[in-house]
Amino acid sequence: MKGWYLTLNPVDFFADQLSPAALARIYQTTPQWVVARLRAQRFRQVVKYVSRHSEFYRQAFQDRGIDPAKVRTPADLGDFYTMPEDIIADPKAFICRAPNIVFESSGTSGKNKQIYYDQHELSQIAQIDAAGLRVMGLRSTDRVANAFDFSMWIPGMLVHNALMRTRCFCMAFGKVDPLEVYRRLKQYEFNVIMGEPTWLIRLTELAEEHGSVPMKLLIGGAEEMPREAIGWMNRVWQGAKVRMCYGSVELGSGLGYQPCDEPDVYHLDDTDFYSEIIEPDSGGLGELVFTTLRRTVMPLVRYRMRDITRLIPEPCPCGLKGMRMSRLRGRRDELIVASGGNLYPLLFENILRRVEGLTHDWQVVFKLDGLRELMEINVESLRTDDQQVRRDIQQQMRLQYPDLTKNLDIGIFDLCVVLHPPGSLRHDRKLKRMIDQRHDYSDAAAVSAAPGSKEAAHAG
Ligand SMILES: [Zn+2]
Repeated sequence: MKGWYLTLNPVDFFADQLSPAALARIYQTTPQWVVARLRAQRFRQVVKYVSRHSEFYRQAFQDRGIDPAKVRTPADLGDFYTMPEDIIADPKAFICRAPNIVFESSGTSGKNKQIYYDQHELSQIAQIDAAGLRVMGLRSTDRVANAFDFSMWIPGMLVHNALMRTRCFCMAFGKVDPLEVYRRLKQYEFNVIMGEPTWLIRLTELAEEHGSVPMKLLIGGAEEMPREAIGWMNRVWQGAKVRMCYGSVELGSGLGYQPCDEPDVYHLDDTDFYSEIIEPDSGGLGELVFTTLRRTVMPLVRYRMRDITRLIPEPCPCGLKGMRMSRLRGRRDELIVASGGNLYPLLFENILRRVEGLTHDWQVVFKLDGLRELMEINVESLRTDDQQVRRDIQQQMRLQYPDLTKNLDIGIFDLCVVLHPPGSLRHDRKLKRMIDQRHDYSDAAAVSAAPGSKEAAHAG
């Protein structure tokens, strides 16, 4: 009876039979204390289950002296986390029962991450995602163009399965040339389009140029939507709502959905995942960690997503209760703890895009000046008033990130802005946005000595 442990839960058995509309209603109306109890109970079950059936977890718990029977909450696991590298190293050690399908996500090391599911889980994922789409406003009367990718990692197929559950009308495009979808908008009377943000942006450009039709919903995922794009899309598509969902190959179904107009937040699925933030800074920002609560083939316990975000326990003004999560602030591997806080590329992007006359290329280098920390912001400037550029950057920092400015004011770090001529920062296709030279000088590819750099000057 290997593997039946989790599926015997009567609540799950009941949930599997529900329509997306009914499940969505339950998500929206279940009292939070019931959700918390269910989550806690499922967490204990998962820990026991993986310790019996997964070689990786059995070994890891044994090595750390963790008794699965005594684990009540994630905190009882101490500093144990599942790392993406653990899966890459030996995916088979995670498998608890026979899978039917494998998905791969690209790894940065060249080795791909394998995630396994079975048929029952796929059907469960379809149902959860269908309920998520329902919460975001999708109805059975809608006509959907699904342009999520159908390749080795899963969004296209999973979305397609979910759409089948919602009983709407759809076309499974895959990530084709946006022009192909644009040409068929009128023919099939689509009123909902789903795809990656960059793809949706390209489609919207086509619509802006050649004429648009009224659209009800644009649903994005897999990466964040630039803030400025949302109002523009809404205008071009004659009132379309732009909604995002947050998922990954490891999560399977979406963890977060945007059902309301509250900007920059996701409502989380608290019954299928146990979300935590580890090593949060004073503002609550840290790395997202989740435990899958209903998987039986390859459950993941405290999996580190590498994404930086913040959990928001306060209820949403839209009336929905439950945990929310802020827009992603970057990747853990891009995060640098410096200048008295957790710094990530988006923070500097937000500051610099509000300063006029700069190109899109920039790089921040953290150095030590004696014992003192120095934040060196390298930008490409089209302007001639260098001192004013420096003042503008500082002013934006002050406006948007008062905590960071406070640390500057009280002398936790020094700030220096180096101006470069346009086109001089980027030597490769990819420009590393943040470089930490404080403790390891070996891997430094800093641009501060780039040819043509104007003189460095301490801002302010
Ligand atoms: Zn809301």
